[in-house]
Parts: sequence; C-alpha cells; structure tokens
Amino acid sequence: MPLGEFELIRRFFADCGAERGDVRLGIGDDGALLAPPPGETLVAVVDTLVEGTHFLPGTPAASVGHRALAVNLSDIAAMGGRPLWATLALTLPVAEPGWLGEFARGFGALARRHAVALVGGDTTRGPLGVTVQVLGCVPEGSALRRGGGRPGDLLCVTGTLGDAARGLDLERAGGEPANAAEAWLRERFLFPTPRLALGTTLREHASACIDVSDGLLGDAAKLCEASGCGAEIDLRRLPLSAALRARQGVAEAQRYALEGGDDYELLFALPPGQLVALERRWPARSGVQAQSTARTVEPSWTVIGQLCAADGLKLRDGETVNQVAARGFDHFVN
Ligand code: ADP
Ligand code: MG
Repeated sequence: MPLGEFELIRRFFADCGAERGDVRLGIGDDGALLAPPPGETLVAVVDTLVEGTHFLPGTPAASVGHRALAVNLSDIAAMGGRPLWATLALTLPVAEPGWLGEFARGFGALARRHAVALVGGDTTRGPLGVTVQVLGCVPEGSALRRGGGRPGDLLCVTGTLGDAARGLDLERAGGEPANAAEAWLRERFLFPTPRLALGTTLREHASACIDVSDGLLGDAAKLCEASGCGAEIDLRRLPLSAALRARQGVAEAQRYALEGGDDYELLFALPPGQLVALERRWPARSGVQAQSTARTVEPSWTVIGQLCAADGLKLRDGETVNQVAARGFDHFVN
C-alpha cells in the first residue's frame, strides 16, 4: 500500500521534535500558533539541502535529517540565539518508509537534544530536497552579528577545522572507513554539531560572530567585510584534529582547515579585554582536541589571529606573511 501524504506526516513527523509549552497549536492545522518569549527578539533562519548539491546521492537518511536541522541551528548559534521551533519542507521522489523513518530519527534526535519543536511543514513529490526553517530568540538588543568586529579584536574559532571537508572527500570515495580516524572524519561531515551553548555565552563577550559553513577563509572575509576591517590569521594556530593530522599530514590538514566547508564551527571576534572573562567561563584550547569529544560535548575555542585596520586577509606562517584571496564556496561561481 502506498503511503499517503497525511499518513506520512502523522507517522513520521507529528511526534518528531521536542514538546514545548509555547506551541499553542502545532502540526495539523493550516498554520502553527507560537508564543514568543516576552522581551526577546525572534531570530529567523532557513536553509535548503538538495541531493547532489549539498549531500551525495545515497547519503544515510539519518544524516540528511540531522544536517538539515544542524545547519540551521548553527546559524542560530552564530546569532547568539536559542532555538525554539522548526518547520520542514520535504520534497521526495518516493515515500519510502525505511528512508523516512531514518530521516525523522536523525532530525528528531537533534531537535529533542536542543528542545526544538517541529511545528509544521510541507510535503511534496519531486527530486530529493529538504528545506528547514528555524525560529529562535535572543534577549532584545543582545544578538551577535557579523559586523561588530574592530581592529585589534582577537579572531577565534570553536572546535577543529577541515574535518568535514576531508570527511566529505572520504564519503565520495565510498567504501568502508579504513580506520577510526577516517570514520570520525566522515562523522564530522555527516553529523555536524551546532555550537549552541557557546553561541549564547559569546553574547556577553564577542563583538562579532559568523558560523563557518563555506570554509574559514571565505567566512572570515565575510566577517571582516561586515566589520569594515581585515584580519591576520596565524596558520600555525589553526585548530586541527588529531584525526585530520594523522590522515593528511599538517600541510594538507591546514589547507583543508582554510578552504574546506561544512565545519559549522563558530568564528568570532573577541575584544582583548574579554579574553580573561571568556577563558574563565570556557577555557580555550591548548594543543589538540581529543577525537572522542567532538560529537556531543561543546568544544573549546582557539585564538587564530587578529582583526586589523587594513583590508583583506593575511596569512602568517612563522615570520612570513602573505595576502590571501578569499575562496569560500559560492553556488553561482564555483
Ligand atoms: P496545507 O495544505 O494547509 O498547507 P498540509 O495539508 O500540507 O497543509 O499539511 C497538514 C499539516 O501537516 C500542516 O500543519 C503542516 O504544517 C504539516 N506538515 C506537512 N508536511 C510536514 C512535514 N514534512 N513535517 C512537519 N509537518 C508537516
Ligand atoms: Mg492550508
């Protein structure tokens, strides 16, 4: 028996997310009724994942569900927000219960972990694509933005960089992971961790923030442009995971860290006077992150450079400093 649209929604999505008291009316009517927290501003984000563009054909459905929500939660984190509600527009070539069950499992687990309610959506037939919108909130006047950085601010990043891009290459090559490092790198692409807790902490310390979705250089250039300044990034301070270094060697790992996308870490500017205060709440990293902590534990963060008055990005390697051309991912150029 083919699965009807309404049966599909009832079976897979009616109980998929978290339960929240501020959802006055959820899935089932023409619209959801939601009660925003008093004194807070809503943060609205939306992202689309299309098969063949954002994920490989044959990607595990649990990963597609997880990523479709995670990329949005990462945007909420970059604004210093707390996520509340999500809607899901799903386009499917066929309603395959096995795939849908796994998709809903991946989406639902992440939604419940961050207390996000799934309050509505749309289901249509067509080439596989997923659009998720998330609404979150921040106390009025306290959102983080890209444009608040000033020359002299420290440039910092959460977690480790380059893992997801290397993981995607390994996924593309196919087959089973050869070892634990490869498996972990693939996980970093398939199940990125939105840095929500650190994002809300940063509201009180950072001057600017952006999430790293298109690669460090590209996203650092966006933060700098919005802030009306440039930056110098110290190549030797880039946080590289043990797995990436073991698999690629340091030089290649650095290239992945600079240019690879899909990390969903937070890149932020920190006025030097805030360094000690943030350190006290959230110790910065020294050395290399243990592999096993990446998926569920909030990460540490690393100072990787400094904003400067001169335009553009510079890369320091020891005593050598080079100007770099930004090379983030652009759908209409690459
Ligand atoms: P309408 O025709 O009024 O847009 P639908 O009949 O398409 O509504 O959907 C019925 C209900 O199911 C609505 O509340 C809608 O938000 C919800 N819904 C539809 N598809 C999804 C989905 N993929 N995930 C979550 N909720 C969904
Ligand atoms: Mg309607």
